[in-house]
Amino acid sequence: MNRWGLLWRIFLVGILLFCGLIWLPPADVPASSDLKLEVPGPVEGKKLVALTFDDGPHPEFTGPLLEGLRERGVKATFFLVGTQIQYAPELVSRMAREGHQIGVHTYSHVSVVGLEQEEFCLQVEGTRRLIYSLLGERELWLRPPYGILDENAQHWADSPVVLWSVDPEDWKDTNVDRIREHIVSHTRDGDIVLLHDIYPTSVEAVLEAIDQLQKQGFQFVTVAQLMEERGVVPECGQIYKRLADSS
Ligand SMILES: [Zn+2]
Repeated sequence: MNRWGLLWRIFLVGILLFCGLIWLPPADVPASSDLKLEVPGPVEGKKLVALTFDDGPHPEFTGPLLEGLRERGVKATFFLVGTQIQYAPELVSRMAREGHQIGVHTYSHVSVVGLEQEEFCLQVEGTRRLIYSLLGERELWLRPPYGILDENAQHWADSPVVLWSVDPEDWKDTNVDRIREHIVSHTRDGDIVLLHDIYPTSVEAVLEAIDQLQKQGFQFVTVAQLMEERGVVPECGQIYKRLADSS
């Protein structure tokens, strides 16, 4: 080997050592004693979010929402009001057919705080029975109107109780940009987002927000799927607001 060839090899070894690509054991330590493998950090978990829609079905606005969700491959959760079902029973069937979760939001949108057991049963169990008549018996979780309930209601719910962690207050105004921005800027992994499918502005805003969040890697699942993904076993009377990845 000529002199330049030798210098080149020394130079190359120097570069590799500098970059950490060659590891040389210290002379007095056995080569295998404390060699630690560099393992990559934990793989970033999935970013999951559950969109929830209260107060429907709405005969005019829930259909376009379902269409938009279908086009985007999004599953959501609908908490239905009993009195609304008669106006759009076919949309309730469509929700179930397209893989959305369905829950109850009382029969006539009343606060469940302070109700007698009989009245609670009419409001919640009565709405469940209405939905059973369309879809057959199934689990129908509860979202209490206004997000409030007392101990009795918790006890009588006979299902998990779903609240939320992101609230764009979509009933407050008809500003699509504001609602969309609130959803996009506040949504983190594991959030449950509160929306109402009785406003055309909510439908427009949420579909735009989905497009933006999907580009950021978010996946949209039902509340039940979110709990399953996070290893949380749903319990009757338990209140759920958010299911972040605990790992
Ligand atoms: Zn409501």
